[in-house]
Amino acid sequence: MNSLNDPPKQPEFLLKSALNVSLVSVIAIVPFTVYDFYVIKNGMGFLGIIAILFCTINAVMCFKGRYSLALNLFATMPIMASCSVVAINVWGVTASFWAYPAVLTCYFVLPLHLARLANIAYLAMILPFGWYNLSPEVFARFYAVLISISIFAYLTLKEIARQHSQLHTLSITDVLTGLHNRFLLGDSLQNAINLHYSEKTPMSILMLDLDYFKKVNDQYGHDVGDDVLKEFATIMHMHLSSPDMSFRLGGEEFLILLHGADEHKAIQVAEEIRTHVQRSKLLPERALTVSIGVCELFNNAHWRDWLKQSDANLYLAKNRGRNKVIACSHR
Ligand code: GH3
Ligand code: MG
Ligand code: MG
Repeated sequence: MNSLNDPPKQPEFLLKSALNVSLVSVIAIVPFTVYDFYVIKNGMGFLGIIAILFCTINAVMCFKGRYSLALNLFATMPIMASCSVVAINVWGVTASFWAYPAVLTCYFVLPLHLARLANIAYLAMILPFGWYNLSPEVFARFYAVLISISIFAYLTLKEIARQHSQLHTLSITDVLTGLHNRFLLGDSLQNAINLHYSEKTPMSILMLDLDYFKKVNDQYGHDVGDDVLKEFATIMHMHLSSPDMSFRLGGEEFLILLHGADEHKAIQVAEEIRTHVQRSKLLPERALTVSIGVCELFNNAHWRDWLKQSDANLYLAKNRGRNKVIACSHR
C-alpha cells in the first residue's frame, strides 16, 4: 500500500551511477572483445559480447529513467563478475586488472546492502581461480588490494548514504518546531489525492493560523513567540495519529493533512485543537487562539486548488471573528 510520505520511487543515485558504469563498461570492453573475437578467436569474445549486450540494455533502461534491480543483480553483475573470473583463468595475471573495476561496479549498480553481499560472493568466487592461476606472490598482493578496495568503497558509500539521509531530513524539517516544512507539501498532497482515488480513502486539510500573533512578539518578545510556536506544534501533534502529517508553512501558519478523515471528522479534530489551544496557558496573561480552515478533498481536485480552498476557509474564519473553525459546508 502507498503511504502519504512515500520516498521517491526511483533510486536517483543508482539510476545515474548504473547508467555511467554501463556506458563506461561498454566503451572499455568493446576493443578487447573485438580483438578476442577476430584475432584470438577464443570463447572470451562471446562472453564479451554478452557483457556488452547486458550493459547496453542496462544503460538504455537507466537512460529512460528505469533502474532494474533484477537486471543488475541477476544479469549485469554476475556476467561482469564471471567474465573477469574466466579471463583470469584464460589470461592469468594480465586479466587480473579487470577484477578491480568489477569490485567497484557492485557498489555503483546495487543498493549498498546487496553490493556488500555481491562483493563477498565475488571475492569468494575469484579466490580459487586467482590462487590457481597466479603466482603466490602476485596472488597475495592482488587479493589484498581487492579486499582493500572493497572495504574502502563500502565505508565511503556508507558514509555518503548517512550524510545524504541527514541532509534530506534537514531539508524537509522546520528547524524551530520539528514539523515538516513546505518542501514535501506538494508531493504529500499529491500522494493523498492518489490514495483517495485508488483506495477511496477520505482526506482532509486543516489550515491553521494563530490569531494576532504579531502582538505576542510585540508584547512578550520574539523568544517567547518562538516558544509559543513550539508549544503550539506540540499541541497539534497530540491530536494527530499516523499517518497524518503536519507542516509549518511559514511564520505562524500551519497545515495538517488528515488521513482517512471526511469533513465531519476533520471539523471534530479542528475543534479539539482550537479548544485545546484556547485552554492552554500558552501566554502568561491571556489566552491565545487559533483560526482553522477545513477542506475535505473534493473530486478531480488539483492539490493547489485543494490548498486554496482550505486557505479561503481560513480567511473566512478570520473574517468571522477568529478563534473559529470553518469548513466548506459552513460557507
Ligand atoms: P492574524 O490574526 O490576522 O493572523 O494576525 P497575526 O498578527 O497573527 O498575523 P500577521 O501576519 O500580521 O503577523 C504574523 C507575525 O508572525 C509577524 C511575525 O512577527 C511573526 N512571526 C513570523 N515568523 C515568526 C517566527 O519564526 N518566530 C516568531 N517569534 N514570530 C514570527
Ligand atoms: Mg496569524
Ligand atoms: Mg498568518
